[in-house]
Parts: sequence; C-alpha cells; structure tokens
Amino acid sequence: MQKVRAKKSLGQHFLKDLTIAERIAETLHEAVPVNETLRVLEIGPGMGVLTQFLIQHPTYQTTAIEIDHESIQYLNQRFKNDIGKTLTLIEGDFLKIPLETIYPNSDFCVIGNYPYNISSQIFFKVLEYKDRIPVCAGMIQKEVAERLAAKPGCKAYGILSVLLQAYYNIEYLFTVHENVFDPPPKVKSAVVRFIRNDRSNLGCNEKLFKTVVKTAFNQRRKQMRNSLMKIVGEDNTLLKEPIFTKRPEQLSVQEFALLTNIIEQSLLCKSN
Ligand code: SAH
Repeated sequence: MQKVRAKKSLGQHFLKDLTIAERIAETLHEAVPVNETLRVLEIGPGMGVLTQFLIQHPTYQTTAIEIDHESIQYLNQRFKNDIGKTLTLIEGDFLKIPLETIYPNSDFCVIGNYPYNISSQIFFKVLEYKDRIPVCAGMIQKEVAERLAAKPGCKAYGILSVLLQAYYNIEYLFTVHENVFDPPPKVKSAVVRFIRNDRSNLGCNEKLFKTVVKTAFNQRRKQMRNSLMKIVGEDNTLLKEPIFTKRPEQLSVQEFALLTNIIEQSLLCKSN
C-alpha cells in the first residue's frame, strides 16, 4: 500500500515506533474499570499506527475521525476487515463535528497522536463535553504537555492549566523523542492523560471565571490589580483587597473561583 504523503498544514508527523503506540493505546484502559466496553474516539489516525492497537484491545470499541481524504483512503484499505466490527471511520474535522452525532447518549474516551497545531482547540472541545468524557489521553508537543500539567507557582502554569485542571487531573506520562516520527517534528513530544475529577461545577459564574483567568494571564508577570481593573473598573475599591496583589500564576483553581465570586458581587453592586 502506498504511504500517505505527509502534509504540514494538517500537522502530519507519523509515529514509527510501535512500542510507543502500544503504550499510548494502553493509557485509557489503565485509567478506567476493566470488563466494560470502552467507547474510544481517536482523533487523527493518520496511517493507523495507534488504531491497530486500539482495535486489538478486547474492551475497546473504536471510532476514528480523520480530516485527510488520502489518509481515509489508506485506512479504509488497511482496516477493511475491521470496519463495521471493532472500528468505525469518519472523514471529518474533529473541531467541527458535534460529538452527539457520534455518541448520542453514552460516555466516551478520547485518544490520539494529536495534530499539534490544534491541540489546545481539541482540549477546549473536550472540556465542552467534560461530563461525557471521563478520560482523554495522547501525544502532544512537550511544552504544551508541561503547561497542561503545571501546578500553581510554576513557570509553565497558565490559562490552559487552570481551565483544564478545573475539571481534570492531568498527568505527564512520558517524553517522546522527535526521531520516532516520519517526518520528525521540530519539537519534542510528550504523552499526557486527563482523568475527570469529581467536581460537578466551580461554584461560580463559569463564563466570568474564564474571562478572569484569561485576563489575569494576559499580564502574567504583573499583580492582578493591573490586569483585572479592565473588568472591575479602575476606581473600584475592590482592587485594594490583598488577593489582587498576587500574580495569576500563584492562584489555584479554587482561588480563581473565589476571585470570580468577589468580582461578580462587586459588578452586581455597581450595576444596582
Ligand atoms: N495518529 C497518527 C497521525 C498523527 S499526525 C500517527 O500517530 O502517526 C495528526 C493527524 O491528525 C493527521 O493524520 C491529520 O490529518 C489529522 N488531523 C489534523 N487536523 C484534524 C482535524 N481537525 N480533525 C481530524 N483529524 C485531523
């Protein structure tokens, strides 16, 4: 079978190392109870290096979504005996497809050697479906993996860390060298896993929470009173509260939720 021509615009770097592919496929199963069928959604199967292990797994029922028509043709041939049994293939854009059309009611796990250029967008979409996605795992650029898993006080702690850690426990599993890909990417890679925590909500206005987190990290080196005055108003006495003298990287998810409540109260008082 003729190989798929790697397209830069689609973030195509095909993994060659089968041991790593198998380890990635195992990450889901390790995190959820065995003996149950696990619905697995693979994003960007490419030539199927990960898919081959997913479909061999006795408890997985896999659906793979791939945007590249050439890859789809390749996968249709390679897995012709599995399609309709342990594998469903969808040609489409993960970012655009409503996931209810794939899984109307049931929970599902997400996996992939993701296209690195859209990994943050993929994870924001996972967050939209957080109550249906107990586990998400896979390979991304190493720096992004570090940011996702970073704890408060670390340099890498930022918007993605706070928004995702609000609902998922994030583990940095292992680092992957660029020479196991064809073509090799310019950056190192890492495998991460998110497991849904038991928070059902943040106890604050979540839209405002996102705005507060994003605004605060826009000027991450500064005390938050500088960035957050845009939201509460320059002359607001609230800015004198000690929490506003902190820098955003010092705050945990809970503290951001608390801050959001204080800000919302103040905005409500102002408008009354
Ligand atoms: N998983 C394969 C390929 C990784 S490269 C491997 O490990 O070898 C990333 C893959 O994601 C490519 O096949 C690319 O075509 C696909 N892709 C890129 N953007 C996508 C999108 N929006 N939706 C679905 N697949 C996408």
